[in-house]
Amino acid sequence: MTEKSSPCPCGSGKSYDQCCEPCLSGEHPATTAEALMRSRYTAYVVGDSKYLLATWHASTRPETLKLQESLKWQGLKIKSTTKGQQRDTSGTVEFVAVSKTDGRAHRLHENSRFSYEDSQWFYIDGGG
Ligand SMILES: [Zn+2]
Repeated sequence: MTEKSSPCPCGSGKSYDQCCEPCLSGEHPATTAEALMRSRYTAYVVGDSKYLLATWHASTRPETLKLQESLKWQGLKIKSTTKGQQRDTSGTVEFVAVSKTDGRAHRLHENSRFSYEDSQWFYIDGGG
């Protein structure tokens, strides 16, 4: 369990309650595509599959999501973003996320696409 005052798992340098926690708790939706990306990474870290499904675009969302418990997330690095700011309707976030399964490290490099609809950001897919 992540304490509210501890550093946010997304690596922003902010405390959890000043960063991703308000998004995950439903207090307010992520204001930018990058903030949504960070909050979704944090949701993977804390195992919040409900939040992941709720922020997945309806066109690409899986019916259910089973998180792999043996997988431990090690860190997130945002490499670049395009658009995805307030008043944009789309954006991309390029990131590298490092995880470990049974002692083996994996590096996920994605250029995710996001869409802003109904006053909130949604994750579409990992890009092309
Ligand atoms: Zn965060």
